[in-house]
Amino acid sequence: MPSPDDRPPRLPVTGGILHLVPTPIGNPEDITLRALRILREADVVAAEDTRVAAQLLRAHDLHKPLVSYHDHNEVARATELVERIRGGARVALVSDAGTPLVNDPGWRVVRACIDAGLPIDVLPGPCAAVVALAGAGLAVDRFYYGGFLPRDEGPRREALAEIAALRATLVFYESPVRLGDTLDTVAALWPARQVCVARNLTKSFEQWIRGTAAEARATLGEETRGEVVLLIAGAPEGATVEVSSLDGDILRMAGEGLGAKDIATQLAAATGLPRRELYQRVLAVTRPAQPRR
Ligand code: SAM
Repeated sequence: MPSPDDRPPRLPVTGGILHLVPTPIGNPEDITLRALRILREADVVAAEDTRVAAQLLRAHDLHKPLVSYHDHNEVARATELVERIRGGARVALVSDAGTPLVNDPGWRVVRACIDAGLPIDVLPGPCAAVVALAGAGLAVDRFYYGGFLPRDEGPRREALAEIAALRATLVFYESPVRLGDTLDTVAALWPARQVCVARNLTKSFEQWIRGTAAEARATLGEETRGEVVLLIAGAPEGATVEVSSLDGDILRMAGEGLGAKDIATQLAAATGLPRRELYQRVLAVTRPAQPRR
C-alpha cells in the first residue's frame, strides 16, 4: 500500500499533453479515479467511436468536446492532435474498451508526440489480455502477445508454427465465431498443451474454460457469442511431444511429395522438436522395411 509520500507528482495542469486513458472492458465500475479526473480535466477527448465515448462520459456526468480517432483517419488526426497539444491542449485518448493501442488505434499519435518532444501520460487500467493472463492459471513469467490470429486455417497454422518453440504463454484475441476452428488448429498442432479460453471477462456471463484445446472445444460446443481471449501454454521444457504421434503428418507430407529434409524442417517449426530427431523419424517412417534374409 503506497504511503501518501509515494503519491506520484501531479502533472502540470498547464502545457499540452496526451493522456492514454483505459476504459472498462465490461464492468462499468472498472474505471479508475484518475481516469475520471483526467477525462474531467481534458480539453478534448479523442475516441475510437465518439458514440461509445459519449455514453461513458454521460454516465459520469462529464461533458467534453469529442473528436474521432480511428483506423481510417489516424494519420491525419494524429497530426491535428499533435498541433493541438503543441498549442497547449490536454488531449485524452480512449478506445471503445480497454487500453488504447492494444489492438486499438493510438500508436501514430503516440509516436508523433514522441517525435515532437511532447509529453505522454499513460494511465494503467483494464486490458483483456492482462486480465486473462492473471486468471488463466498458465505461467505468466514470460508471455507472448499475438493480437488476432489470421482468419484462414493455413496462415493461422503457419502463424502458430512460427512461435511453436517459444517457452512463453501465448496470448491471442479471437473472434468468438472463429474460436472453434482455432481450437481445432491448436488441438492438431499441440494436442497436449493446456489452453484457457477467457470469455466475457468482467461481464455477467464471464467464463473460463481450461484444459487441452480438444477439451476446451468440447466445452465450448456451438457457442459463438461473446468476447474472447485465448491463451496457450508455451513449449514445454525439453521436448515432450511424442515424435511417433507425428507419423500421420509425416506420411501425409511425404505423400504430397515433400522430401525428408523439408518435412523435418516444417515439423520442427510446428512443434519445437529438434530437427535432427524429426529427420531420423521421417526416414524411419517413410523408408520401406528391409525384407529379412
Ligand atoms: N484495447 C482492448 C484491451 O485493452 O483489451 C482490446 C481491443 S481489441 C479490438 C478487442 C478484443 O479484445 C476482443 O475481440 C476480445 O478478443 C478482447 N476483449 C475485449 N474485451 C474482452 C472481454 N471483456 N473478455 C474477453 N475478451 C475481451
